[in-house]
Amino acid sequence: MNQEVESVGPENASSRCGFVAIVGRPNVGKSTLLNALLGRKVSIVSPKPQTTRHRILGILNRDNLQIVFVDTPGLHSNERRAMNRYMNRAARASLADADVNLFVVEALTWTDEDQRVLEYLKNCGRTIVLIVNKVDTIYPKERLLPYMLEMQHKTQFAAIVPLSGLKRDGLEQLPALLAQYLPESPPHFPVEQYTDRSELFRATEIIREKLTWRLNQELPYGITVQIERFEAQEGRLVINAIIWVERAGQKAIVIGQGGERLKEIGRASRLEIKAMFRKPVHLELWVKVKENWSDSEAALRQLGFE
Ligand code: GDP
Ligand code: MG
Repeated sequence: MNQEVESVGPENASSRCGFVAIVGRPNVGKSTLLNALLGRKVSIVSPKPQTTRHRILGILNRDNLQIVFVDTPGLHSNERRAMNRYMNRAARASLADADVNLFVVEALTWTDEDQRVLEYLKNCGRTIVLIVNKVDTIYPKERLLPYMLEMQHKTQFAAIVPLSGLKRDGLEQLPALLAQYLPESPPHFPVEQYTDRSELFRATEIIREKLTWRLNQELPYGITVQIERFEAQEGRLVINAIIWVERAGQKAIVIGQGGERLKEIGRASRLEIKAMFRKPVHLELWVKVKENWSDSEAALRQLGFE
């Protein structure tokens, strides 16, 4: 391994590579920011908290620079269910390992949960860059100034960057800024790679995203998706997936009047999976009940939460 590094040659002497964890309480726009930075969707997004359940890598490749972003489930205080404990573990493991922690907050907002995330980050002792996100919602922009000043007193941030992940505004300088804090190193991943996740995982997540958008506020946490069949067949992709819910009543909600909601979820999922893999897709969805899966460590493991 060392030998390989040495044989790369002097033109790569100043190449940098490292890990940047994107952290913050749920719903501040972490996954949206990651997708905006990469210019493609690697992590699903929804208006509901706790959409991101896993640690997902998004890899940005530039000349002599590879930034491995780690999208994390939001750190949250409620550890009542096994699912929530799993998500917090996934988030914490990522921050401790990162070269830089990108701490995302919502412009003009500071909650107890933000404070708790900050305390945790301070303990990690890594470089912290503060992202003041969603500035597209603030008029006039001068209203940000006192807030930015207040943020400077929270701790020693390496930088404070106002931006809008949704509008892709203010992102241009961010990779170069982060590069300063990354070690000199050749790329960890092949430079054409932009995520560590398999096609099957990404298809699973897209189905879950479409579900999340079409369901009521309470329901999404009790839902997960498991793909049972994922096969290339005569130039098309054949996918069979199960939507697991926790109660029979939830099953009826997911299916909807005359099966309309499930049909719509299937249609939207199929279109996006087709666009992502540039192949026709045949998708079949079933809804099944597994009681209290999100509170059972065993069920979580069975459903792929390591
Ligand atoms: P996460 O839970 O931190 O990963 O947040 P998401 O990326 O899933 O976004 C949560 C919600 O905030 C979604 O409805 C996004 O569309 C919205 N959002 C994210 N970034 C921005 C932004 O820059 N401006 C505005 N107005 N909304 C945003
Ligand atoms: Mg997210």
